[in-house]
Amino acid sequence: MSNNYKIVADQSCPKCHHRLRLAAALGGDGGAPNEGDPTICWYCGEYMIFDANLVAQTMTTDQWNALSQGIKLELTCAKHRIKRDV
Ligand SMILES: [Zn+2]
Repeated sequence: MSNNYKIVADQSCPKCHHRLRLAAALGGDGGAPNEGDPTICWYCGEYMIFDANLVAQTMTTDQWNALSQGIKLELTCAKHRIKRDV
């Protein structure tokens, strides 16, 4: 599982302001995130999407709607795991 996480630019969650240094490449090939890739805050479960500078921004409803069903399911499951662990 360790191969699925990449260090991204130091940044904070736009919702809970926890520092985010790792990003999971959800549904991808395990590589570094690209612009438009979805991710999730491991502290509060906020859905986010990487912008052109690979900074995670809060995901808009339109961005959520544009995701595939598989990615939505993966994000939803990840959020449930986070909520269960805290
Ligand atoms: Zn957060």
